[in-house]
Parts: sequence; C-alpha cells; structure tokens
Amino acid sequence: MSVVLDRWPEGKSLAVAWSFDDGFAGDAAVIERLNTHGARGTFHLSNAFLGSPGYVTAAQIREVYAGHEVAAHGYSHSYLTLVPPVLRRDEIRRNRLALEELSGQAVVGLAYPGGYYNRDVEQAAREAGCAYARSTVSTQDIAFPAAEEFTLHPTCHERNLSDALINRFLHPANESRGRFLLVWGHAVELDKEKRWDGLERQLDLLCARQKDIWWCTLSEVARYLAALRRLHVDQDGGIIRNASASEIFLSRNGQLCRLLPDESLSWK
Ligand SMILES: [Zn+2]
Repeated sequence: MSVVLDRWPEGKSLAVAWSFDDGFAGDAAVIERLNTHGARGTFHLSNAFLGSPGYVTAAQIREVYAGHEVAAHGYSHSYLTLVPPVLRRDEIRRNRLALEELSGQAVVGLAYPGGYYNRDVEQAAREAGCAYARSTVSTQDIAFPAAEEFTLHPTCHERNLSDALINRFLHPANESRGRFLLVWGHAVELDKEKRWDGLERQLDLLCARQKDIWWCTLSEVARYLAALRRLHVDQDGGIIRNASASEIFLSRNGQLCRLLPDESLSWK
C-alpha cells in the first residue's frame, strides 16, 4: 500500500510561489505582472526601510499588497544570528505587530534578514508566533517540499530562473510527482538589471500550464503542509483521516484522493 503526500490543493501537481524582500517601491510593478498572470506573491517587509527613498511607505501597504501576502522581515532588518537572543523575538514580534496594523492581514511568515539563520533563530521565529520562515538558500530543487516550515528554501533567485528550469518544472513526464517552484528576489534588482521583460517571460512560460498550477502565497503553502502532517493513517494505509481544517489531496496506490476537513476514507 503506498500513500504519498505530494498533491497540492485541487489535486494539482504543480505549485508556484513568488517571494520578494525589503518592500522596494518596485513591488507594485512586480504585483502588476503577477496579477496579469494570475500569480501570487509574498512580500517580506522591514520597518527599517518603510518610507525611505525607493521603498514602499507605511500608508501604501494596504493598497500595494492587496490580494498578496505581507510577511515579516525583522523590525530593524538586523541579521537575527547577530541579535542578542533575548531581543530576537522582539525583532520579529514588533515587525509583525506593525505590519498587521498597516496591512490588515495576519502576518505569519518571516524571511530571515540577509538569509542568516540557525537553530536558535528558527526557535525565536516559532516563539514570536510565525508559522513559517523562508531562507535565501537556492536549492535548484523543484521537489514537493519536506514539511520543514522554518527552513523553507527557495528553488532559486529570480535572476537564475532559466527556461531550462521552468521546462523541467512543467514537463509532463514528471507528472507522477508533485512539484514546487519557489522563486525569490528583490524588486530593485529587476529595475537595476532591467529584467522586467525577463519576469514577464518567466510568467508567460509558466502560464503554458496555467490550469495545472496552484499559484500560492507562502503562508498558504505552510498551512497546507501543516495539514498534510496532521493526517492520521492506520498501519496498512487502509484508513486515512484528515485531522485538519483544510481540504487535502494525496495519492494512494497512484490514485488521487480528496479528503474534506475531518473526513475519513476506508478501503477495509
Ligand atoms: Zn532583506
């Protein structure tokens, strides 16, 4: 009996998430392009930058990021590995609190400032009430993610998202396995390196399989992975119960199964 947890909502095999850091003014142009392609983004903001030249202002947050996720990036953008342990949680909490007020969203995600983290920083993120944290470690990996919500590693920086990588992600021959593409970057680099056409092209290529893709924010990914982890399965995989409040999908002996919240399926 094989029960494999590698299907996304609606039974889809592909999920794509975009994640941009620091709250550059160019985020608005990123969002414009994501919106025209039906894509979603997660935007990690630090209070240190809000309102500085070239950055989004506090007053713009609600409008600019409507329909996308606002997430934490540290109150002062200090590298959390270098912040005294006693102050780490505060760095994240104050950041969350301010962003929640400004965005009207529950802020549950973090991108480690500068990408720096260790076991203690992960713990501080948990204790500050985050549900996940993203690193800047580019794995080039498109596999369905392991449920390690505090080391959510990107596939690559948007600069390095090649046609070959997109084609590998979309290729129907890989259909038997769920896949995840997580691309991160900074809007200012698209400006400086004049790569707006590149972003457009990447989105166009992905849209070749528009209907097969779950375009998601990172908090949605974290919530879904947490739901999969709460699955109750008996020893031979004959009874499966969804112990979460989310609809989930999985494959059992190669067959797609859907489980509503609290639903059990039995093959006995
Ligand atoms: Zn940053």
